[in-house]
Amino acid sequence: MISDISVVTHSTAIGDLFNDAPVCGIFESDVIIYKILEFFSIYSVDAVIITRDTLPIGILTLKDLVRALYNCDNTGFPVKEFMSSPVTMFDPSVKIADVLEQMQETAFDKIVVAKENSIIGIIDKRHLLSMCYTQLTPIIKHEYNMVHSLMGMVGEGERGLLKMATTDALTGIGNRRLFEEIFQAHQALGKHYDVTLFLLLFDIDNFKSINDTFGHNVGDSVLKELTELVSRSIRKSDIFVRWGGEEFAILLRYSDPTTVMKIAEQIRQHIDKNSFETIVHVTCSFGMTFIQPGETLEEVFERADKALYRAKGDGKNCVRIENP
Ligand code: GH3
Ligand code: MG
Ligand code: MG
Repeated sequence: MISDISVVTHSTAIGDLFNDAPVCGIFESDVIIYKILEFFSIYSVDAVIITRDTLPIGILTLKDLVRALYNCDNTGFPVKEFMSSPVTMFDPSVKIADVLEQMQETAFDKIVVAKENSIIGIIDKRHLLSMCYTQLTPIIKHEYNMVHSLMGMVGEGERGLLKMATTDALTGIGNRRLFEEIFQAHQALGKHYDVTLFLLLFDIDNFKSINDTFGHNVGDSVLKELTELVSRSIRKSDIFVRWGGEEFAILLRYSDPTTVMKIAEQIRQHIDKNSFETIVHVTCSFGMTFIQPGETLEEVFERADKALYRAKGDGKNCVRIENP
């Protein structure tokens, strides 16, 4: 019989599962079926071991017995004609984990544990699994939670790194890299019939003299204040980045250039009318163009830059457009 030892793990020796009392039914192979039928009816077992000269050579399960009775109405046949063989035998010192591993490769689900021809017990693969499973569940759960939280940490780390790589440290808005990624993704999607993508490039006027007059820190504050101001003037879906230095870019999605020109003009006026800390008055020049499907970022930027250059040439603090 299986002993009721409380702690069973995958490293428990299979022999430790059995107590000393003799075990299960052991019958010589020439015993008649009737004898075994009698045994099954008295003891609640579902298999017996069949031996020849005390050596286990097979198992007779309840299923085998039913099959035997179904096929012949005579219970006087020797058991060897109905038993399942060969038998899978294990030394009692073998660990449960090793037993289960070896059992995976066999179709038999009963295991005989025997040492030097003396049978210690018989156990079902499923029974063995269920005993280990209850012990393993907390370990599996713990491992799962560990892996899960590690994956979370990696995910957060990746997201953090991605955010860091695409954010401008001074102003907190996106940087050139973010812009490039979004631009490429948009162009890869191909033609959009109802909307056009516009690029608005702008540059702070006379920023060098702001730095020279008020110092670099004041220059930095202007960059931050201006970023906040412009962020409030555009939609959340517009991609606003610091392109570099005192130059910014906005990627806008609208159906017509007139609307975008109006928006650019509004942003220009917001800046012009804003009272900046310390230096009060700041202006910007704007270059605008629309983006055609399949165009590269270099081509688009060259055009927007041309428009911006014209705005500077036309006295600064104005918006110019350059068509493809
Ligand atoms: P324009 O009107 O033609 O644009 O003239 P500008 O003076 O704005 O342009 P210029 O290119 O001559 O000078 C830009 C200055 O911006 C020079 C550089 O030191 C300054 N700058 C670039 N990045 C930063 C920054 O992060 N912080 C500060 N404070 N200044 C910066
Ligand atoms: Mg400038
Ligand atoms: Mg510049």
